[in-house]
Amino acid sequence: MVKKFGDHTVLEGLDFTVSRGERVTLIGPSGSGKTTILRLVMTLEELTGGYIHIGGTPLQYEEQGGKRVRIPDKRRRRTTTGIGMVFQHFNLFPNMTVLENIIEAPVHVMGLSKDEAAHKAEALLDKVGMAWKKDARPSELSGGQQQRVAIARALAMDPEILLLDEVTSALDPELVGEVLGVLKDIAAETDISMLIVTHEMQFARDVSQRVMMFDHGSIVEEGTPEKMFSAPENQRTQDFLRAVL
Ligand code: ATP
Repeated sequence: MVKKFGDHTVLEGLDFTVSRGERVTLIGPSGSGKTTILRLVMTLEELTGGYIHIGGTPLQYEEQGGKRVRIPDKRRRRTTTGIGMVFQHFNLFPNMTVLENIIEAPVHVMGLSKDEAAHKAEALLDKVGMAWKKDARPSELSGGQQQRVAIARALAMDPEILLLDEVTSALDPELVGEVLGVLKDIAAETDISMLIVTHEMQFARDVSQRVMMFDHGSIVEEGTPEKMFSAPENQRTQDFLRAVL
């Protein structure tokens, strides 16, 4: 895949596959393109070149008769319901209650009835330990609580893949554990694939099977967390990890 912002090429010739149920962590210096990758998968950004497939289905563009053709929004929407994203700054709808935040997309995108969606939302809130706050507004919650609601919201769409973009970076240190704990449980209990951008290297070790080191929009090294964190071979990986660990 290729991604440019104007003349600035952020990703060039990037090519990787995440298997069903696989958890992959992206590491690398600020500006190396990690968030852009997640935003492209979520179709929040337009691909400049190439293709992204989810479960074999192309996301934004497909090849037809040797040509790269844009996929109509209607078909694209069906595919993107299989993707959930959790953002650094939670991005909950401030004017809605916790429960309303979670049922919004299942009702309006998936077409569930309000009752069905609420039933499901309550089970998910229970899972992230937030059922007791279902009628609260996001502003009444701590950052860690908001992020747990955001995780429940992402799961409400039954995603095949969960995109986690520095989900603990905006939290006070004492709130990080509760969010990572919920994510570790989800990783242990489901076969949802995860593409994770994080600076929490212990979390990356605990949940991911593969770590990819990015620099200037390409993968400079990848491997198991054991290999990447204990015996990285690439000089840039070594320098990066020395600076963050
Ligand atoms: P960080 O850890 O700081 O979030 P990152 O590896 O996630 O870094 P990206 O946020 O993906 O990096 O940014 C990659 C490059 O793309 C940066 O040079 C950034 O300035 C540029 N970029 C990202 N979004 C835009 C945009 N909407 N318009 C122009 N340039 C952008």
